[in-house]
Amino acid sequence: MDTDRSWMYTRIKDGRILGSFEKGVDSFIAFALAHPDCMKFGDMKCPCNAKKCQNRQWLKPAEVVQHLKSKGFVPQYEVWNHHGETAHETDQG
Ligand SMILES: [Zn+2]
Repeated sequence: MDTDRSWMYTRIKDGRILGSFEKGVDSFIAFALAHPDCMKFGDMKCPCNAKKCQNRQWLKPAEVVQHLKSKGFVPQYEVWNHHGETAHETDQG
């Protein structure tokens, strides 16, 4: 995948959450939902940067969205390997 993930770590400008970040979070949630293997009873691992999360805690998608907006992504999570993506994934799908 050569998708641009720079939005992940460009969350706030002038004290406001950027639209590009919110849009990116939506695409992240959609990606995770498209990979049910990485979900458990409708929950997904939360990749936000809160100490208790960082891909350890399982949360509802709506909660993950809230966490990401308030905490941002855990550093160096450009490859969404906890949400169904592999580092060597080809472009089929
Ligand atoms: Zn979280």
